[in-house]
Amino acid sequence: MAETMRGTGLGSKSLEREIGVELSERVIATFQCPDGHQFELKFALDAELPRTWDCKNCSLEAIRFEDGVEVPFEGVAKDAPRTHLDMVLERRTPEELEELLQEMLVSMRIRRSSGKISA
Ligand SMILES: [Zn+2]
Repeated sequence: MAETMRGTGLGSKSLEREIGVELSERVIATFQCPDGHQFELKFALDAELPRTWDCKNCSLEAIRFEDGVEVPFEGVAKDAPRTHLDMVLERRTPEELEELLQEMLVSMRIRRSSGKISA
């Protein structure tokens, strides 16, 4: 007796989901695997597109193509966050860094010894 209710419930649920997908903006990414299989995937407009995706036909690793060109690894790596040390090293020569270090050590020693004023 509950069978009919369950059936309609499922049907309306999947319909709602379809409408939701159509409403949000999508971007289509093209992938191609080493075997030459091409397929397209839809992503949200603000989503970060993956460089690779498992091929739907042979499950090899497919690479994303942009304007018919394979998306290079470097394009992804370039955005990797730089450390503070990276930025310091870009602006200073090793000699300057050594000098800065000595200055810091001296001022640290001065601060430490001046804090030790006691009878
Ligand atoms: Zn394939």
